[in-house]
This record gives sequence, C-alpha cells and structure tokens, in this order.
Amino acid sequence: MKLFEMTALELSRLLQKKEVSAVEVTQSFMEHAEAVEPQVRAYITRTSETALAEAEAVDEKRRRGETMPLLAGVPLAVKDNICTGGVRTTCGSRFLEEYLPPEDATVVKKARAAGLPLMGKTNLDEFAMGSSTENSAFFPTHNPWDLQRVPGGSSGGSAAAVAAGMAPLALGTDTGGSVRQPAAFCGLVGLRPTYGRVSRAGVMALASSLDQAGLLALTTADAALLLGLIAGEDRDDPTSSSEPVADYLSTLQEGVKGLRVGLLTENMPEHFDREIIAAVHRAAAVLAENGAVVEELSLPHTGSSLEVYHLLCAAEASSNLGRFDGLRYGRSARGENVAEMYSRTRGEGFGPEVKRRILLGTCILRESRYESYYLQALRVRTLIRRDYEAALNRFDLLLGAVTPTTAFKLGEKKDDPVAMYHADICLLPGPLAGIPALSVPGGLGSGGLPIGVQLTAAPFREEILFRAAHLLEQERGPGPLRSQLLPPAS
Ligand code: GLN
Repeated sequence: MKLFEMTALELSRLLQKKEVSAVEVTQSFMEHAEAVEPQVRAYITRTSETALAEAEAVDEKRRRGETMPLLAGVPLAVKDNICTGGVRTTCGSRFLEEYLPPEDATVVKKARAAGLPLMGKTNLDEFAMGSSTENSAFFPTHNPWDLQRVPGGSSGGSAAAVAAGMAPLALGTDTGGSVRQPAAFCGLVGLRPTYGRVSRAGVMALASSLDQAGLLALTTADAALLLGLIAGEDRDDPTSSSEPVADYLSTLQEGVKGLRVGLLTENMPEHFDREIIAAVHRAAAVLAENGAVVEELSLPHTGSSLEVYHLLCAAEASSNLGRFDGLRYGRSARGENVAEMYSRTRGEGFGPEVKRRILLGTCILRESRYESYYLQALRVRTLIRRDYEAALNRFDLLLGAVTPTTAFKLGEKKDDPVAMYHADICLLPGPLAGIPALSVPGGLGSGGLPIGVQLTAAPFREEILFRAAHLLEQERGPGPLRSQLLPPAS
C-alpha cells in the first residue's frame, strides 16, 4: 500500500517506528495530488513548501529523540474559512481573494504545534453558505467517487481532498451540516463536535450561535485522534468549554452493549432514497446485534428545523458579514461617497447566495419583523432543544439519516436554492440543539456511491459517537471505503 492510501493512524505508527519519515509521507500525498487534483479541484491554495518544511522539522525533532505527538508528520488539509497566518484565507469569496490573516486560528495553531504539515486550503461554498461547493466564487470541486457529482458542501474541498488521497485528515466547519453532509457524499467519517468543544477563534463566522469547527477523516479512529488534538478550552474563544477532553482513541473498542439507541424514523420521510433508509435500519440492526437496545422515537418539533435554521442563520450572517465593508478586510471599490463605496464593494464582492442570505437576515431583523420572525425562530429553537434534552435523557445515542440521497450531479440543484436547502433537513436539528453529531459510512448505494448514517449524542459525549461508529465500521469490513481516485484510476 502506498503512503497516500493509508489512514492517519497507520501513518502515525510507521512514523513513530521511524519506518518512514514525515517528508516521505508528505511527498507521497503531494505527488498523488499532482495526479488527481486537476480533476478534483479540492484546493484553493496549496502550501506544498510549508508542508515540506514542517515535515522536515518533525523529522529533525525525531532524529534528536524528542517524543512527538501521535499525529506528528501526518498531513492535514484546512478549509479556507479557517485562518492561516500569512497564507491567504479566502472563505471561497472574491471579497477575500487576497486576504492574508495575521495569525493562525487556534485549531491550526494546535495542529501545527503537534507537527501536522499543512497541505493547503480547501474549497468551500462562499462564506460556508451551501451544500455542494458550487457556491465557491472560484470553481466547483468534484466528488472523487464520481467526478460528475458534487462532493457536498460547504466543506466539499476538505472532503474531496481526503477521499482522493490528497491528505489523510482535514478540518472543516459545520454550521448546519457542512462537515457531515460532505463526509456522507465522499464516504468519510465527519464529526461536528459539541458546540464549544473546539475553539472557533480564527474561524470566520457564518452564524455564531451555530458555527462549530469539525473534522473529516477516513476512519473513526483517525477522527478520534484528531478531535483529541484540537478540542479543549481556549482563552481566545469565550464560548469554548472547560469540559475535560477525553482520550477518545482508548475507548473506541468499548462497543455499544447496554446502550439505549433511539431510531429517528420520522427524519426519513418517504421521498428519501430507499437505500438510505435501508442503510439506517441496517445500522440499527448491527447496534442491536451488538447489545444495544434500539427503540423508535419521535422529536416532534424538529419538523420546523429548516425554517428555524434559515431564519437564524441568515439573521446572524447578515450581522457577522457587516464587517466586510471594504475598509478593514478584503476588497474595496471606489464611490462618490461612503454609501456608494459600501454598496459597490459589497455588490461586487459577494456572490448571489451570500446576498440572498444577507437580504433575508437584514429583513427579519428590522423592527417590524423582529418579533414575528427572529424571536419566533428563537422560541421554536428552544422547543427543538427541549425535544433533544428529553430524548437524550432516555437514550444514549440517536440514529438517523444524513441526507435524502447520495451525492447529486453538479448543476442539478445549483439554480434551485430551495431544493438545496431541503436536502439539508436531517443536518439542521443537531446544531440548533448544540449537540455533537457524526456521519459514518453505512455502505455503498446502487450507483456505487457512499451512503452516510448519522449518530448524535448528549453534549460532550463524543466518545459514544466514536464507539458506535467504530463498531459500524468494523461490521462493514476492513479498512476505509475507497473512492475511484484512491488508489489512482490509471
Ligand atoms: N448547507 C447548510 C447551509 O447552506 C449548512 C452550511 C454550513 O454548515 N456551513 O447553510
């Protein structure tokens, strides 16, 4: 097996035994990227020189006999809405095409301090608004399983980079599914940690009450390792939690015996692909065979998640994106007066989806609509949260679908934003409730495309998600799912 085909854990073991160097590992991913990136287009910016220098530094420390973190020398791709000091961070927007952040986001600082070479910055929907990466101002990314299809979004570049063997691990963000949906479409494990589990300092804000940095990996063990590295309290993010970070890898094998699992059948209406519904039921059967007690349950208010999410997300986005006025960050256009300057700067800088959401958000925050839309959405959010609190008193784990279909074709939903929003239906309740959620491959559908299965748990119980996901992975067969580009098609 080539190095770029290995999981992060396999690479970490070889690196620790000094059977390979970090430079060799990094080069292997870089060379493979030369072959597949022209078809996939996962990266907005590649940082090969930085990656090699970081790998060399790891090798040097190892030669000197220093004890290194487990993931030292294992390359990482980073979504381009997560700041990297001195490396441009575009957020998928023309507005920030040339933006060089002054410093790394906390998650990037942690990864660099642990010796993970930075492979590059991955493509996304502009300001993380979208579900297909087609809203990137630069170019769409292609799904490594089928190049005619979307990789999902908004962390589509991160998912495609991992699924195509251009990095074994990636960071993404999940406000309303942007890690879990691309993970499902690309056959990966995608984790949205509990709100506050991972620092958001230096992660560009979309909707601050929902945003969470997350991760994509080939296996649950890899995801567990990476979460252990990036989680924890951060003085630069007052919403980060002081809850202790568990050793997620050590509990991975503990299984699900005695766990109470709630099966969310109502989150899979009839228009969902049959094979998706079947995959969720298969996962329920596997958990039951391994000693979990599975029961169906209902979360009555989650049916309103789509409306609540889009109202709150738009309101918060319109406020967060107010900072892009052409004065401090990014591009600026000329005008006869200040109002004209703002208007031109924003009119030329933002793409259509971003404008749509800013308009909606600004509209519902006006005094005349604030009560009936914004406050009403907040009230329903509380009801959704309470549904989850009640359910997670009874159950340790909830199981459901990630998406209604497998990866759709490029262009299929691009001009129909409402259809695009509707496909996110299973992804939105978790973030509204602030709970952790994970997507794990549940097999392949008839078209040979991956299907994801979603697991959610109570706040800060990520280890339960990992235990269940690991078990499902083991039952599916050895090793991660492999896209057509991993190993190379030729
Ligand atoms: N697809 C969702 C949206 O368009 C989620 C985006 C996200 O999580 N960043 O808003």
